[in-house]
Amino acid sequence: MSYTRAGSDKVRVHHKSENRQADRAHNTTERAGEGGQGDSMTSRGRKPLKYCLFFFFLVSCAVSREISPPYKPGVEVLVQQLTDQPYSVHILDNSRYLVRVNMHSRWIELNAQWADALMRKDPNLLRAILAHEIAHDKLGHRYALADDRHALQALELEADEEALRILHARGFSPWDYVRAMKMLKEIEDKNPSSSREQYYSSHPYAGERLEKIEAMIITLGLSPKIPNGGTEKPEWKVGYVWKYNWKGPKGSGTLTREIIREDYCAEVRSWIVKIGKNEFCYTKDLLGELAVMTDGKLITKRTPPRSFVSWPLEVGKEWRDTYLLENAQEKSSRRLVIRRVVSDIEEITIPAGKFAAFKIDSYDQSGGGGLVTEYWYSPEVKWLVKLRDTLSAGIREEELISFNVS
Ligand SMILES: [Zn+2]
Repeated sequence: MSYTRAGSDKVRVHHKSENRQADRAHNTTERAGEGGQGDSMTSRGRKPLKYCLFFFFLVSCAVSREISPPYKPGVEVLVQQLTDQPYSVHILDNSRYLVRVNMHSRWIELNAQWADALMRKDPNLLRAILAHEIAHDKLGHRYALADDRHALQALELEADEEALRILHARGFSPWDYVRAMKMLKEIEDKNPSSSREQYYSSHPYAGERLEKIEAMIITLGLSPKIPNGGTEKPEWKVGYVWKYNWKGPKGSGTLTREIIREDYCAEVRSWIVKIGKNEFCYTKDLLGELAVMTDGKLITKRTPPRSFVSWPLEVGKEWRDTYLLENAQEKSSRRLVIRRVVSDIEEITIPAGKFAAFKIDSYDQSGGGGLVTEYWYSPEVKWLVKLRDTLSAGIREEELISFNVS
C-alpha cells in the first residue's frame, strides 16, 4: 500500500482485509486450476488483487498527489448530503483507488480522474458510492477485525443495506446505488485484467451482491413496487385514451392521445395514435415512434423508429436511440443520437393520481450531450404519465390528467 500520509501507520486502511480475502480467493482459484502448485508461487508471482466493489485498484505505479479541481466543492456537497459528520475530501491525481475512507480521521480520498468523470456523467452515482463508504464508518466496521470470507461478505452486505437506508433517509433514490453498482460491474466486465477475470470466473460475487441489493430495496420498502409483468411491453388496444395537460414557453392547454386504429405505416404494422389533427404511428413490435401524418400525408419519419422505452425495463438500463429524422414537407433530414437511461423507480403524483413509474432520462449526444428530456413510464397506465422537455426557449411539461386502458 502506498499510503504514506503521516499517521497512516495507526490507521487500518479500509478494506485491507477484503484485499486479503480477495487474494486468498484468487489463490484458491489458481490452486484448483494448476493442480496445487502452491501458494507461495502464486502469491509471489502476481501483484495481490485489490478488490472491493467501490475500491478499485487502478494504477499500479503512478505517483499520486493531492489537487484542488473545480469540481471538488461539488464532491464535498455530496458528502454533506449524506452525513452530518465532518469529513474532509481529498482529490488525488493518479490515485490507485476510486474512493476510500480513513475512518479514524474522517478523511475521504478520491481518484481525480474517476471523480471528474462521475461528476460530469452523473453525480448521483458518485453520491451512492460515497454512501457505501460512509455506511461502513457509521456501522463501526473495522476490517482488520474480520478475517474470514463469509464475515467479510456479511459486512459488505451490511454496508450495502445501511447505504440504501442513508440514501433513502436523505431523500435520494436507493436505485442510484444499483446503477452505481451496475456501472462498476460493467467497467470490470469490459476491462478484465487477467487476475480480475480469474477472480470473476470463479466468484460471481458482484452479480450476486447486486441481486441481493435489489431484493433489499424491495423488502426494506424503499421503493414503490412495480406490478408483476410491469417491466414488459404493454399490450395496447384500439380505444385506449390518455389525456394530458401541458404547459411550456408557448402557453398551456390539454392534449389527448387516443389509439384510433391498427394500420400499416411505411409498410410497418403500427398503432395509429391521434393527437389533435396529427396521427402518430407506433410500431406494434416495440412501440417505437415511426412517423407523423396529417390529413393522410407524411409529415415526419424516423428511421429506425424512436424508442422512448426499451423493453424489458430495469433501472440502470441504457440504450442509444439513433435515428434519421426526415421532414417530408421541408425535404430535409438529420441524424439524432439520444442516450436514454432508466434512472429510477419513483412514486409520482400527478392530476390523474399516484403511480409507480420508471424514470427515463434522455441526453442529446448529437447536440452536446446534455439532458434534454425526462419522462416517467407507468406500467399501470401503459404509457407515459409525465414528460419534461428542456427546450431552448424553456421547459415544457406534460402530466396525465385521466386515462382509460381497459
Ligand atoms: Zn465496502
